Amino acid sequence: MPAYRGVLHVHSTLSDGVLTPEQVRDLAVSEGLDFVVLCEHAKFLPPGRFDEAVVECARLSNETFLLILGLEFEYQGRHVLLLGPPELLREADAETVGGRPEELRARGGLTIWAHPACTYRWTLRRGLAADYDGWEVWNSGFDGPLPSLPMLDLLRKRRRSGRRMLAFAGADFHERIHALTPITHADIDSLALAALIDGLREGRCRASGGTSGSLVLMPDGDLSTLSTRERLYAWVRYCLIRGRCAGAWTKWVVVSRRGRSRGAGNPPAR
Ligand SMILES: [Zn+2]
Ligand SMILES: [Zn+2]
Repeated sequence: MPAYRGVLHVHSTLSDGVLTPEQVRDLAVSEGLDFVVLCEHAKFLPPGRFDEAVVECARLSNETFLLILGLEFEYQGRHVLLLGPPELLREADAETVGGRPEELRARGGLTIWAHPACTYRWTLRRGLAADYDGWEVWNSGFDGPLPSLPMLDLLRKRRRSGRRMLAFAGADFHERIHALTPITHADIDSLALAALIDGLREGRCRASGGTSGSLVLMPDGDLSTLSTRERLYAWVRYCLIRGRCAGAWTKWVVVSRRGRSRGAGNPPAR
């Protein structure tokens, strides 16, 4: 079965990215990739605009390159990616994606908890309990060139206790200074949306990247050996992310107390 190479979790001008979908496609093709999964913030794509975006992605796809439209939802301070057929995405809402992912799975959807390391403590426990198909334990935007080792440990513990969520990797690409990495290799028999979703759901995939480019993350959470320096780097990076989260949370509490009369929204979580 051929392995197609692509990147998950990319933003374009369809939401808050800087590159147009066409520029994303051209960049990905120039890097030898076969597919890109856009995960645009859902609030930027109300139904009419969503339909136009689906048409645009189809226009930019051909037999050798697939541009897929996925969505990223905010729910109770955590972010969740949804991949699936356009008709499912068009109707999906944050509450179902974030709180009842099993309903979407039954209809062909795939949910991935995005950058779980950057989740506020108050909602982290709920995220751990939710039935997502996978966790983005490696988000190069937040975690950098190495996966989040604490989230990977949590995922492995949960898998040992009988849960079956998979380890995924995403770029959280917003502009050219970000990289289209980590690469997701999908063992699928055709370059098509349904085949890719099935391949990801069934764990016929792996991610690669890292400082040397040769680091491999398997869907069951298995990771190639890291050097002591890499492990130290990953832990420091995790502490910085948690610190940033705590800072943003504190700021949100202060601002929301001040503006309670005006009604405060969800705490920030990129
Ligand atoms: Zn994102
Ligand atoms: Zn996000």
